Amino acid sequence: MSCPAHPAWAVYDLDRLRANLGEVRRRIGPRQACIAALKANAYGHGVLPVARALDGEGLAAFMTGSFDEARRMKEAGLRTPVVMFAGALPAGMAELIAAGLTPTVVDRAGAEAAADAAPPGGAAHVYVKVDAGLGRLGVALEEAEKFLDALARMPGLRVAGLYTHLPFADGSGRDWAERRLKAFDALLERLAQAGRTPPITQARASCCLAAGLSDRANAVCIGHLLFGLSPFADGSVADTSAYRPVLAEVGSRLVHIGDHRQGSDFAIGNSYGIRHGRRAGVAPIGVSHGLLRPVSGSRPQALIRGRRVPIIAVTLEHLVLDLDGVDDAAVGDAVLLLGSQGDAAIEFDELAAWFGTSGLDTAMALSGRLPSSYR
Ligand SMILES: *Cc1c(COP(=O)(O)O)cnc(C)c1O
Repeated sequence: MSCPAHPAWAVYDLDRLRANLGEVRRRIGPRQACIAALKANAYGHGVLPVARALDGEGLAAFMTGSFDEARRMKEAGLRTPVVMFAGALPAGMAELIAAGLTPTVVDRAGAEAAADAAPPGGAAHVYVKVDAGLGRLGVALEEAEKFLDALARMPGLRVAGLYTHLPFADGSGRDWAERRLKAFDALLERLAQAGRTPPITQARASCCLAAGLSDRANAVCIGHLLFGLSPFADGSVADTSAYRPVLAEVGSRLVHIGDHRQGSDFAIGNSYGIRHGRRAGVAPIGVSHGLLRPVSGSRPQALIRGRRVPIIAVTLEHLVLDLDGVDDAAVGDAVLLLGSQGDAAIEFDELAAWFGTSGLDTAMALSGRLPSSYR
């Protein structure tokens, strides 16, 4: 976990990932299947280790917007189908299908290109995305039935899934999502009456699930909550504390301890020159490894020897720590920005708050930047 040539690391806890999936399943009950949203390098957690950990869990699909990540999942020989979020040009459909992926189509040109790419005698499977009000991507809800009719007439095309996306950040968003969910439900109802329900139908993601909204689709597609991240701007919409952050530890080691005299020109924050003598410890982890700069006024800390010590500065490559009062600190000591030592712990929310950002943005900033291990 810690390489002496560059001691800095992140630890991801896959048991928490599976426990979070268990929590999702308790909330949705047996009627709905679960799709894992693994876009953006699995929200920064490492797409392959995460996909491998979830592959035996009976998920309906893994979804990502990245062709590169999707290909890597296929090459790893995972059994779970990999479905692409919308993001390809019609001219790219053949390549996605040849790679064994299920593309999302949002227009006729994309659907026709997918049908043309069907294997001889077989069918190209696609998901259809509906815009139920977000105004971003998808076939307009009012056009959806006509669109599905057109696709049903295309030989070689099979609609394996129909979905929409209704993310929101606060209480007013919840009311909006509830209304739009009802409108999507009405579409599903009409399709069911006509006996034309695709095998997978999905509308709820982390926001709708955590907020307790319900729907008649047969699947959910979850990202944030699987990783123990809240999708909301604050805790007022719903309590998500039952889901634990999968990013469990961020650490480094002291590589130097300096005793600096008053008046020496050691940099503190934006100013130079220390006001009183102090011991400062340096650990080789900084902005270049994905740490963000603390917001002014926050008092970020790290753990050393089970004690909280103030962080003086986050530089491009280093963390500078105030070791006044930690007389036993030694070169080689672990420095944790996140995680626990003995009875002391720094929680993920605390770290994100020091950075003045969300848990997701903290995880994304660290994505792929530090040697990672999985437990
Ligand atoms: C990312 C994404 C999801 C998952 O959203 P979470 O809020 O992270 O659960 C679902 N559907 C679509 C279309 C997405 O892009």
